[in-house]
Amino acid sequence: MPAARKSAPKKTFASLPAKRLRDFTESVIREQTRLAHVHGAVNLAQGFPDFPCEPALKDLARAAIDADFNQYSVTWGMPGLRQAIAGKMGRYNGIRADADRNVTVTCGATEAMICAFLSNLDPGKEVILFQPFYENYHPDAYLSGAKPVYVTLREPDWSIDEKELRRAFTGKTAAIVINTPQNPTGKVFTRAELELIARLCQQWNVKVFSDEIYEHILYDGAAHVSPGSLPGLEDRTVTIGSASKTYGITGWRVGWAVAHEKITDGLRKVHDFMTVCAATPLQEAVRGALGLGPEFYRDVSAHYLRRRDFLVQGLEAAGFRCHVPRGAYYVMADVADFIREPGSKGRGRFRDDAELARYLVSEVKVATVPGSSFYKIKGKAATAHKLRFCFCKKEATLAQAIERLDAFRSSGSR
Ligand code: PLP
Repeated sequence: MPAARKSAPKKTFASLPAKRLRDFTESVIREQTRLAHVHGAVNLAQGFPDFPCEPALKDLARAAIDADFNQYSVTWGMPGLRQAIAGKMGRYNGIRADADRNVTVTCGATEAMICAFLSNLDPGKEVILFQPFYENYHPDAYLSGAKPVYVTLREPDWSIDEKELRRAFTGKTAAIVINTPQNPTGKVFTRAELELIARLCQQWNVKVFSDEIYEHILYDGAAHVSPGSLPGLEDRTVTIGSASKTYGITGWRVGWAVAHEKITDGLRKVHDFMTVCAATPLQEAVRGALGLGPEFYRDVSAHYLRRRDFLVQGLEAAGFRCHVPRGAYYVMADVADFIREPGSKGRGRFRDDAELARYLVSEVKVATVPGSSFYKIKGKAATAHKLRFCFCKKEATLAQAIERLDAFRSSGSR
């Protein structure tokens, strides 16, 4: 018998990605931003301001550069910034935090969240996500090997179905993600809802990853309650914040995670090897920003409230039925009338929200986000007839978008 020949390895494309990437795709939001550039569209897709930040913030950043804050900081964040964050946690969030034991400065809330996932979730564990969800949580789960379990917020007020939530908790559940105020719905979780979650987390010994990046953007008397301030959640919550949205500086990449010291130890380990530290001069500038007076924070909500009302009015006039948000800076609009998808009540000319969004960005020149990208489990047709519009834009930008959408409606494009 001829000797068995060693077969050469099959030729495969050398840069095939790792298997852990196969369960998620490119961010739809960033894709819409790319298409907005290609088509010269007004970008109401991605949540970043197109107006300048406060002059005081620029002065702080310039002063930090002039003062030669040029080198790596302590990996878990400059002491002065951590103290400022700990102070703010006590004053605003009702959470006692020690700068050395509980506070970690990260490259935005994005890094804080992935550090929370990677340092707390073993492969095979489950993490509960409310849907519609901010699109990063789903890849965060897959990157950490955890299985996301979805609980759907119920329209029209995005409330929690208690039975569904209870069913989601099992012996495998290791964490639940809360985002309040929520992107994309603008839901602000009530104390009663958080207390229900707190009871379940204690019963099942589950941690909370709480994304509070929109904590200062609230409307109509909505009050921000930090889950970590509730009895029973103090020691099991990672409270995540960021300078991105409050100060309109999404590109500065300064955020933080506040947690019990045992959780903090793990989180810092991941953070250290992932990014070492956030940009040192910008950490120093954000330290100064955290010292701005209460009028600054009042103005933040008032500023976005004007834009919310302007956009909602314009969208309604153009035939988009809006869910009016109580926080954050996004509007979810129902576009069922534009959709002809079987099973949906709409009789429009577009197959689904994704097709409508593609048409809007390429032909109408307004970039939005199809609502289905915020859902993983596509229940009924409800998930395929929504669009998300963001309103952290100049009034002139919003006016231009509304004008174009109005022309779209007048042309009978449904
Ligand atoms: N969390 C939520 C809910 C967001 O909407 C965003 C950005 O849109 C982020 C986190 C990203 O935060 P950061 O810029 O601090 O990384």
